[in-house]
Amino acid sequence: MRGGIDLGGTKIQAVVVDDEHTVRGEARVPTPTTGGPPDVAASMADALQQAAQAADVEPGDLEGVGVGSPGEIDPGAGTVTSARNLPDWEGTFALGDELSGALHTRVALGNDVQVATDAEALLGAGRPFPSLLGVFWGTGVGGGIVLEGKPWTGRGAGGEIGHVVVKRNGARCTCGRKGCMEAYAGRGSMELRARGRHKRGTKTDLFQIMRDRGRTRLTSGVWARALDRGDDLAIELIDDAVEALGAGVASVQNVLDVEAIVIGGGLGIRLGEPYARRILDAMMPHLFNDDDPPVVEVAALGDLGGAIGAALLVANSHQRPVSVSL
Ligand SMILES: [Zn+2]
Repeated sequence: MRGGIDLGGTKIQAVVVDDEHTVRGEARVPTPTTGGPPDVAASMADALQQAAQAADVEPGDLEGVGVGSPGEIDPGAGTVTSARNLPDWEGTFALGDELSGALHTRVALGNDVQVATDAEALLGAGRPFPSLLGVFWGTGVGGGIVLEGKPWTGRGAGGEIGHVVVKRNGARCTCGRKGCMEAYAGRGSMELRARGRHKRGTKTDLFQIMRDRGRTRLTSGVWARALDRGDDLAIELIDDAVEALGAGVASVQNVLDVEAIVIGGGLGIRLGEPYARRILDAMMPHLFNDDDPPVVEVAALGDLGGAIGAALLVANSHQRPVSVSL
């Protein structure tokens, strides 16, 4: 059995899978908001221990544990540098050694979005297709590329689909640039815009729903509820997000011409099939090869995809370079 940990900005998801990739145990803990990398690593070890307990195995008896992390990953050194959305993670931290010491097994690190894409390619919605683009619509908008069965990360920073420009001199993105797709479609940007509009007097139930649910942020669940209630501001901002996704994803498709687009991420999974169809509709005016659009599907592995993909790093690490064709 192998372990997998998906390190997210709000939650840490751990799984233990068997050699058929079936989930035998899983656990989820909140990502610490203070303390820094050592505290995050301790919570990750805790989540994995809980998942192992559910699977009735000792962490030390696992073949290894894979980690999907944001930030710059050095798989050889086992380090993560400047991980966005994580507390005080500006410098370089030896996450691999830290976890390996706590869990008494070997640890392999990978990029969070790429391992989730690999999991969809190998085990999920992308299985029938040799080449695909994973679009992870959440706090930001992440992208993962698989070409002819192999992950493509360029020189290490490839797949940053969230920063495709959909409007020149457009809205300020969290990356500091202007007009990125993420500035319109990322949940973080959508929340900033909603707060600004609410402050200036636009009526919306978004923040009441947030408080009723005991949240401090506009989570995917809050957005979904507001849409169900027909909240005008939620509908407007989600419509803008879908239009931005359509333009950005179509532009990437014009370059890559893959068979399938797999839509994941918190919002992508929560809003599901009807929104995958809406994204395809929004892509159509921008698709050069509009006679033969790609298949657009929702990620089949759901919330566990990132952790299941992380566990693949252990299976793969016997062979270099990493390939999804096992
Ligand atoms: Zn950007």
